[in-house]
Order: sequence, then structure tokens, then C-alpha cells
Amino acid sequence: MNPGATGLFLDRDGTINVEREYLSDPDRVELIPGSADAIREANEAGIRVFVVTNQAGVARGLHSEADILAVHRRLEELLSAQGARLDALYYCPHHPEFGPPPYRKVCNCRKPNTGMLRQAAETYGIDLASSFVVGDKCSDIETGKNARCGTVLVLTGYGRTEAPSCTADHVAENLFEAWKHIQKIIQKRISSFSHGS
Ligand SMILES: [Mg+2]
Ligand SMILES: [Zn+2]
Repeated sequence: MNPGATGLFLDRDGTINVEREYLSDPDRVELIPGSADAIREANEAGIRVFVVTNQAGVARGLHSEADILAVHRRLEELLSAQGARLDALYYCPHHPEFGPPPYRKVCNCRKPNTGMLRQAAETYGIDLASSFVVGDKCSDIETGKNARCGTVLVLTGYGRTEAPSCTADHVAENLFEAWKHIQKIIQKRISSFSHGS
């Protein structure tokens, strides 16, 4: 039986692109250097790449779901200009305490819940136990642990502030360095498999 593919689950703000508080303007999307290279190399290695992002600014009435989609289009445009591609982008617009229904909701998609990862796993045949979560917040790392994925905290975005209070499997300077670490783990798996050990 096919054990399922490896997935790379990436937080968006502060991980792929520069953190801007409640980013809603496509013109303010700016890639962190090396992000596109990391994603392109993962694409080339046959790893599915997903964005999983909490966007409670919707529940808080700060921006709309249309704004999120516009930001995602811009993000994909900037990545595509460097040959990188996202397999899917998932977002949670909810908040448990703020805003009107349907956005004020205790949902299963808001990180550190695993709803977005499980949806991707089902749609794309991803094996979460062999997959990785990369993010700049402890909630990203908790999401990964909750889904039994490997976890890497990046020191971009809120990473430096968050680092003392969370226990990721690995800490990396940025997404590109996080990918280099993950790539080594994947290569090791492949070589141990092909050597039959
Ligand atoms: Mg973030
Ligand atoms: Zn949600």
C-alpha cells in the first residue's frame, strides 16, 4: 500500500513573506530572501508544498476573505517569477472570541489545530507522520506536533521572540535553511530505504 507522500506545510506571514501585521494589501507582499528557492527545490524534489495560515483578521473585521485571496494571488505570482509553485493554500478566517458568525467560531482549522493539514492530507494523499511544518510561531510548532509532523522554527518574523518558549525539532535562520535541514532528512530516508536498512 502507498504510505502517502511527504508534505511541506509552511506558515505564510513571517515564514515565506515578510511579516506585516494583518497583511491585506497585495502590494505589500514581500518575499523573504531564499523563500522561493526553498519552495522551488521542494517542488523539484517531488515534495508537495502547502501554505497553512491563520487569518483571524477576517473575524476581527480588519479585512475580507477576498483580500486574503488577492494576497495569495500576489504571493503565487512572486513565487512563480522565481520558478516556485505552491500546491495549495489553506487559511483559517475564524476566531473563537471575535467577530460575527460565521467567523466567530471554535473551529478545527485555526492553528494549533490540525484541520488544514488533515484536509491537505486527504486531498493530496499526504502522510503527515513523514511531513514537516515550518513556521515562525510556537503555534505553528504545536500544530506540527499535534499532527505528528517534523517541526522547524524559523527565526524570521516573530521567530526570534518565540524561540525561547517553544520546542521545535530544529531551529533555522530562515525558510531556505529550514528546507536544507528537511532536505537532508528526506535524502537520508531515501538512502536508508534504497540500502534496505
Ligand atoms: Mg507567521
Ligand atoms: Zn478556522
